[in-house]
Amino acid sequence: MTATTSDIWHNLVGQHRAVEVLRPAIAGQGMTHAWLFTGPPGSGRSNVAIAFAGALQCERGGCGECHECHTAMLGTHADIAVIRTQKLSIGVDEVRDLVRRSALRPAGRRWQIIIVEDADRLTEQACNALLKAIEEPTPRTVWMLCAPTVEDVLPTIRSRCRQLTLATPTTEAVAAFLVGTEGVSEALASYAARASQGHIGRARALARDEATRNRRREIVSLPARLSSLGACMHAANNLAAVAKEEADAITSELDAREKADLDTTYGVVERGRRPREYGPALAALDKAQKTRAKRRVLDVVDRSLMDLVSVYRDAVAVASRATGTLVNEEIRGDIDEIVRESSPELNLRRIGWIFEAREQMLEFNVPPALALESMMVALKVPEGSSR
Ligand SMILES: [Zn+2]
Repeated sequence: MTATTSDIWHNLVGQHRAVEVLRPAIAGQGMTHAWLFTGPPGSGRSNVAIAFAGALQCERGGCGECHECHTAMLGTHADIAVIRTQKLSIGVDEVRDLVRRSALRPAGRRWQIIIVEDADRLTEQACNALLKAIEEPTPRTVWMLCAPTVEDVLPTIRSRCRQLTLATPTTEAVAAFLVGTEGVSEALASYAARASQGHIGRARALARDEATRNRRREIVSLPARLSSLGACMHAANNLAAVAKEEADAITSELDAREKADLDTTYGVVERGRRPREYGPALAALDKAQKTRAKRRVLDVVDRSLMDLVSVYRDAVAVASRATGTLVNEEIRGDIDEIVRESSPELNLRRIGWIFEAREQMLEFNVPPALALESMMVALKVPEGSSR
């Protein structure tokens, strides 16, 4: 079977090696009932899982044209469940529901497939519930778990899965994808691909949206400005504000739509007409939206930190006279300045401090404002440097 421009794999960016493993599995070679797809956020691990699921349901191994393929890609296939969470963890009740579903016969003739997008967010209890289902699988059931790295999933679970590590898509692959799907210029596509560092969703947002590009420019220009304590505080506030703004841009539309749906469901259209059940439902929605907003802010802060890391990495590359394009080619002037006033060793330490701040926020729930302030102070340009 050769790749065509319309088969179910054709929209995966830079994942040829994964496809080479999955195609034979569809034909029965190395097929198993539990898979673990790992790769950095944005590398497209859930897209790979969805394409694989569709190909397993398709009579022709993923033609991209039949009803099975189409419904798989649209997310409406009756025998493919995709579990996405907006919460910080996936609890045991949710997993029990999935396990019940996994035991059902497929409605079609092929497989019952369950894709868990953020398997790293399973609580320990949830993992134990899942473990039983994976240990004693129903013959037609396939589990596909997705996580950033193998270490993010408990050994008991991962040892029972076939593991497939996805590549971070190359800049060239992402740029070509953007030109093909977004119709943007080569220059813009190349910028977005570089700046996204292989994160496809991010690359697409950068290619599409000027406000996103401006927010990124704001972040990467911070390191060159950290000359005083005041500037560091200002930079921390700035980063927090930019993150909040970007997170709001993502969630506000979704929040409004969910609220409108809720109102429709409860018939809250005319003034004053509010059924008794509406109050608690609204409160529950409000709580879920707040949780999601918090997670989004953390996601955006996290990505902004990776943007900062890219600036210092560029500085290390320039100092060590590495050839090739910088991630932040467009602020080469800033990078040169950082190189002049600091050693590569210092810049590597700075990268370490950024990762420390990240860990404080994500692992230890330190409020972002606090973690960012101490991080910026640590990143400050050393006293006695030329500026
Ligand atoms: Zn098909």
